[in-house]
Amino acid sequence: MTLRRCYFMPLLRTGDLLFNAVVLQRRLVDRTTIHEALEAVRGSVGGLARDLFGHNVTEISKHLLGDSSHAERLLQEHTLFGVFRHALSGPVATSWAEDLKAGRHLSCLQSLGASPSDIGALSSPYLRSCRQCIDADRELQGFPTWKLTHQVVAVDCCLDHGAVLDSESRLIGGSHVRIWPLYLPGENRASCTTPDLVPPSDGYAAYLRLWRRVLTDELPWLKPSAWIQSMQAAVSKLGGVDSATREIENDIQRAWRTPIGKISAALLLGGNENAVREELSLRSRPKDIARRMLMHGSLDRLGLELVASNEGDQRELLLSAGREDRQLALRNAGIEELLNLADQFGLPLASIRLAELDSGFAHVSQTVGIHNESLRKFAASMEVSMLQRLLDSLQFSAESWVASELARRDKPQQAKVLRTTPVAME
Ligand SMILES: [Zn+2]
Repeated sequence: MTLRRCYFMPLLRTGDLLFNAVVLQRRLVDRTTIHEALEAVRGSVGGLARDLFGHNVTEISKHLLGDSSHAERLLQEHTLFGVFRHALSGPVATSWAEDLKAGRHLSCLQSLGASPSDIGALSSPYLRSCRQCIDADRELQGFPTWKLTHQVVAVDCCLDHGAVLDSESRLIGGSHVRIWPLYLPGENRASCTTPDLVPPSDGYAAYLRLWRRVLTDELPWLKPSAWIQSMQAAVSKLGGVDSATREIENDIQRAWRTPIGKISAALLLGGNENAVREELSLRSRPKDIARRMLMHGSLDRLGLELVASNEGDQRELLLSAGREDRQLALRNAGIEELLNLADQFGLPLASIRLAELDSGFAHVSQTVGIHNESLRKFAASMEVSMLQRLLDSLQFSAESWVASELARRDKPQQAKVLRTTPVAME
């Protein structure tokens, strides 16, 4: 059977959702059946047909544009990868893009430090549209398209027009038939309850202005290494985490005319009343990009330093003492590898303290800001040789999480020895 391909598609403009390709193929280009449209654009019928994260992007590039060389651009300009990549270190962004191109879309959650229950806070369960964008699109090209940033939950207004977004089509089909109705924007407005909206204010306007730049500009201050430095500078300038939290929350209340708890609840920022404290304590993960946008506005208004360094994407070793001999010992022990692994694993930024935390799982997970179970999973992913090198470096004692993990791996062997010993004695 010869696969259907498009090789022709009205050009998607930057910020148009990749999903538009299937809708347009069905509705405007060939007037095919749904299955034919999916196959022509994506090469297959199943999967997450809204293509929010660009699952199948390599195939789409081949089918839509003739070869696979456009996959990276499609990811950056037409999927949520293009939004969240700003909050990732260079190596993690690269490996995530490679995973997406290879069709391993499950890596999305790990790269973002998200759990399946976080998905609803990242992208809207409805496709959303702006009435003025629809009119402008019709005038410009004759048909409207779904916009990527309209689908981000933490943005409930159109970034170009400021209009509140309308919720439209919802997913149809069961969990194994995750196909979206192939409507164009404006055709299928759902009658759903209006969410708890954030009222217009100077603070909200500044926040939305930052979001406008997300698909076209580089935003190096969102990168992990820069963000850690910005948060540390803010805490140190404002006299500690407690007073920095108070000061920034007061600023947000003034600028947004809404308390932080209400803003985070409405925009699903995570952390609710503690959103600011979580950022200042480096509990931030890539999925929390919207919270970093919110904090940026406040730091800016308070005249605090925002680091926007492009150099050294790596998480720096964070040592209170900063003694050179200790730095060297840690480097030799492979702490950098440990921090890179934490980065790949989507652990909160506070994982830069891992090198300093010579204690058990409970204390370390609390300090880093993750569940005990997540830290155990992370430890379980480490190579024995890496754990052994960390232990040999004398940075970690016998009571540390590193030693516990090594002991856990040794256990089955010990059990085997115990079992075999009596046999040997017989
Ligand atoms: Zn609009």
